[in-house]
Amino acid sequence: TDQLANDQLTQWDHDHFFHPSTHLGQFARREMGNRIIQSAKGVHITDREGRRSLDAFAGLYCVNIGYGHPEIAEAIAKQAHELAYYHAYVGHGTEASITLSRMIAERAPEGMNHVYYGLSGSDANETNVKLVWYYNNVLGRPEKKKIISRWRGYHGSGLVTGSLTGLELFHKKFDLPLAQVLHTEAPYFYRRADRDMDEAAFTAHCAAKLEELILREGPDTIAAFIGEPMLGTGGIVPPPAGYWEAIQTVLRKYDILLIADEVVTGFGRLGTMMGSDHYGLKPDLITIAKGLTSAYAPLSGSIVSDRMWDVLEKGTDEFGPFGHGWTYSAHPICAAAGVANLKLLDDQNLVANAGSVGAYLNETMAAAMGGHAHVGDVRGQGMWCAVELVKDRDDRVFFDPADKVAPRVVAAMLDRGVIARAMPQGDIIGFAPPFPLTRAQADEIVTVTKDAVAQVLG
Ligand code: PLP
Repeated sequence: TDQLANDQLTQWDHDHFFHPSTHLGQFARREMGNRIIQSAKGVHITDREGRRSLDAFAGLYCVNIGYGHPEIAEAIAKQAHELAYYHAYVGHGTEASITLSRMIAERAPEGMNHVYYGLSGSDANETNVKLVWYYNNVLGRPEKKKIISRWRGYHGSGLVTGSLTGLELFHKKFDLPLAQVLHTEAPYFYRRADRDMDEAAFTAHCAAKLEELILREGPDTIAAFIGEPMLGTGGIVPPPAGYWEAIQTVLRKYDILLIADEVVTGFGRLGTMMGSDHYGLKPDLITIAKGLTSAYAPLSGSIVSDRMWDVLEKGTDEFGPFGHGWTYSAHPICAAAGVANLKLLDDQNLVANAGSVGAYLNETMAAAMGGHAHVGDVRGQGMWCAVELVKDRDDRVFFDPADKVAPRVVAAMLDRGVIARAMPQGDIIGFAPPFPLTRAQADEIVTVTKDAVAQVLG
């Protein structure tokens, strides 16, 4: 009967479930190698066929505390019994949403004390763009509206957020990017730096490109710059040395706001509470999502600086209530999950573990893979790591995407019981395990990577 049930589910899946970010033709032809997931505990997930895998990508780098924590399930159940829902409009709150706001402010950089809640990283960035536009309208500078993002940045897949995202896949055939969005150089030393540049020279190049763009468009038209402290979906790439200092100098010169998109880096992924702490960002807005609840419930937020807050408050005194809200803003069940998650992160010392075991994973991966003829770069920070595969290492020649090298390596890894992710652009194998990972599990990830690369590339 189990097999019957599985066959039935698979049929319904193909008949009715429109999956996100999926090649619909390949799915219909059953070429995906996808699975129906049944349960999970710690760093392992189990599918309906009973196959267990080490999830070295924490879902979509979001299940930071690991799977199956009873504390979170209990917090969700308690909230659902007591008060499953009430809205947050016109000043309403719940104990969970108010407590969580305080906990976020305590963990955010100094001077960032106000949290607006959404449900996804995409809608939080949508909110950020509206906040920036509103802010400049209140300040009486309606022309200052364009947002600069980076090629290879990832900020979501809505209309404006898909535009901010600097990856072709998210623009193609959707008529994006929108006109108010501009893209600048990706801080991606391995691919973008000329061979005679060192990191400092490449940083100077990135800052010069940004300033050139601002001057070309007119500084009075540029409202904000958005960036992940460390590039994620675009390739898992730490910025070159001095990058954020150089970029922030340019932004300050032209009175341009900084949005730090910390959807992945927020709450510990880099081994510090926020990615801004690690790289010295002083943002006006911070986007948070995934790590806020470790994905036990959907919740995102925009953390607003005191400086912006004062202008927003003045705006409503002048123009009336702030006309932006979702039914599910600060949903009590999600907020309860957030409170329990942030407590657990502290109680189990998981940010420190992400730092130390993450460093171990990066070191052992570099030692095992760095010398391979088809490995161009091994890089990372905290519990985040990438191996970039190349056709020719010396001449930096990349594989043809049609060869599907990274997807084949990832499939070979799955056969060996480890889930990694083939990043969407380039042959990049991504790792972002849950924070409780042990050194023995890090060793397993490295061994499986080595064997899978050897199987596919020799
Ligand atoms: N921003 C960053 C940096 C992300 O990595 C993501 C998702 O991966 C998003 C925004 C979008 O978040 P969501 O998928 O929850 O809309």
